[in-house]
Amino acid sequence: MRDGPLLRVVKRAALAVYRANRSLARLRRGRAPYVLAGACARTGGCCEAPAIRVLPLAWRLPTMRAWIVGWNRLVNGLALQAEIPRERLLVFRCTHFDRTKRHCDSYDSRPGICRDYPGGLLEQPLPQLIPGCGFRPVARNALALRAEIERRGLAPEVIERLSKDLRLQ
Ligand code: SF4
Repeated sequence: MRDGPLLRVVKRAALAVYRANRSLARLRRGRAPYVLAGACARTGGCCEAPAIRVLPLAWRLPTMRAWIVGWNRLVNGLALQAEIPRERLLVFRCTHFDRTKRHCDSYDSRPGICRDYPGGLLEQPLPQLIPGCGFRPVARNALALRAEIERRGLAPEVIERLSKDLRLQ
């Protein structure tokens, strides 16, 4: 159901806190090793099963985890579908996502995790984007790495595979 005025105000405040936290985290960790290339293909794939990675301490505290799940249900319209302990992931079904029309009924008040996708993945060692996503991660030093690989006189198929695996394309 589309967000009402009160929910929009609450989500705007939550978004400000989310952005401040992200900026601080980026300052602490430095530049991500990848940049984004491409553009949104508007498939709605990232709305199929939005997921949140929980910090280690919060994952170990059941009350904290329940609070995260409750907040996302109440404010963001995200209903918990699964927990993946190995990756500390909470996977949701979004009640704002219209699966037939493949669009969000509250796009302008969508939460930070939706606005961030797939940029939030660029800090991972080898980012995996959702199949069909029009974006792709490219290593910051892609040009230099690609030139270095090509200098080695490797077979074209090996160069292609390395370029793909190392996100140089
Ligand atoms: S709030 Fe909107 S953008 Fe975010 S997952 Fe749901 S449908 Fe997608």
